Amino acid sequence: MTVRKVLANAAILLAGGVDPDAADVGLGERFNPRLDASLLLAKTLGLARHRLLASLSDQVTAADATVFDALLSRRLAGESVAYILGSREFYGRPFLVDHRVLVPRPETELLVALALGFLDSFAAHYGGPLRCHDACTGSGCVGLTIACQRPGLSVSLSDLSAGALAVAAANIRALQADGELLGAVDCLESDLLAAVPGTYCLITANPPYVDSTTTDVIFSGGSVEPRLALDGGADGLRLYGDLAAQAYQRLVAGGALLVEIGEEQGAAVAALFRQAGFRDVGVKQDLADQDRVVIGYKHEAD
Ligand code: GLN
Repeated sequence: MTVRKVLANAAILLAGGVDPDAADVGLGERFNPRLDASLLLAKTLGLARHRLLASLSDQVTAADATVFDALLSRRLAGESVAYILGSREFYGRPFLVDHRVLVPRPETELLVALALGFLDSFAAHYGGPLRCHDACTGSGCVGLTIACQRPGLSVSLSDLSAGALAVAAANIRALQADGELLGAVDCLESDLLAAVPGTYCLITANPPYVDSTTTDVIFSGGSVEPRLALDGGADGLRLYGDLAAQAYQRLVAGGALLVEIGEEQGAAVAALFRQAGFRDVGVKQDLADQDRVVIGYKHEAD
């Protein structure tokens, strides 16, 4: 059978077999049967996706078809394409992922973009060397992207989950091997910032913020992401108060805390930031015009 025919059959199968609502909510990716089929077939054949699309008339061998069918069955069972491939692109770089970490979401790129903007203005104001910490790091996608984008920076990562830190450490090695990451990055096991020493000009975090009831719905839809990375308690806000208080202690004057939030949590998280002492607290919108990031500053006089 040709690549074209295999893709067409697989897309039809996926369109009928995957619940689009579950796929959209819990799996960290939009439901797109044709894209999913082509990513899985490209993986099977060891080709980049654009190479696959340039080979539509080639024949798929029986052995490759068997491997592809196994990947397709996993997708049909609701598993994320990122987990099946073992990788997800974030800010233009591949990040290794498995069931120990949340699949990086495109909207989290806003957190990185705002962090980079803040770092540049902090450096212009105060000079370096700059230290930055990413808490609840998961795969490390936020902190490591910042480290790759700003090579002079000293970056550390922390997570409560030892499994997540193992994935983050694998990403550090992979990015170093690719020449994307130049310096060393420390990984610390810590409940929020409790075991994180030192002071920082920037602290970032994408903590779990989905309320427990919605998390239950996501898991009943077949998601296999770690509950620890999603479930933010009854109202999804469980970690923000402690995180803001701990971050305030560890920031230097002029430093900032940037966190990702659920789209309905802007006002509540901004209030928790202000309670912790942060000034000029702002809520920023993602490309879908949803509230997605809260930023707060520690002022010089504090
Ligand atoms: N944005 C993710 C989702 O809706 C949740 C990420 C998080 O809890 N940090 O699935």
